[in-house]
Amino acid sequence: MTTYLFPAPAVPAAKVRGEAGLYPVSRIFCVGRNYAAHTREMGGDPDRDPPFYFTKPANALVPSGGQVPYPPGTSNYHHEMELVLAIGKPVFRVSVEAAQDAIYAYACGLDMTRRDLQLAARDKGRPWDLGKAFENAAVLSELVKAADIGHPRDGLIELKVNGQVKQTSDLRELIWNYAEIVSHLSQYYHLQPGDLIYTGTPEGVGPVRPGDRLEGTIAGIGTISLTIGEAE
Ligand code: MN
Repeated sequence: MTTYLFPAPAVPAAKVRGEAGLYPVSRIFCVGRNYAAHTREMGGDPDRDPPFYFTKPANALVPSGGQVPYPPGTSNYHHEMELVLAIGKPVFRVSVEAAQDAIYAYACGLDMTRRDLQLAARDKGRPWDLGKAFENAAVLSELVKAADIGHPRDGLIELKVNGQVKQTSDLRELIWNYAEIVSHLSQYYHLQPGDLIYTGTPEGVGPVRPGDRLEGTIAGIGTISLTIGEAE
């Protein structure tokens, strides 16, 4: 029997609608730019830039409905409302046509970002970890199974801050749809059950402050909420 020198960390996991068991999370992949209008607001060219990825540690997961402290080291903490995919079977070098079958469930996600640190790193050609891969940076709603809702190709994606709409778009505006993302990512990784993919945010990203209340929705999938607490 394996023994550990200190108590092993709990397995990060997500609730699944209609299931008693939790979905254990191993990896969190994020697509960098996947809506044309957001690519432009970040200074990119949606016609030219290919998709790219960054990751967050699984222990950055926060369930919807909670409160997180305003994170250290930033004065420009941003919301990014996103559709999330949950992988349900192993795939490697899967075709676009077959990729959809690997998606077990969908969810709403918030890719919380220390924008000032991300942009400083980007402009120096450095990794984005300080801006993206920090504590409490991956907010996730309950998962809803594709077996129950199908594979939504369109529908409103929206985020409100303190009741005001900040981000609004439609899933049909995704540059790369989820089958294309799963296929593309599987050229580089052996995707496994437990892998989440945050598929990118539409335009309208912006800062949040202590006391702010975030409420997001994706038609046919669900809702997500988060309260921003004081800085620690
Ligand atoms: Mn994002």
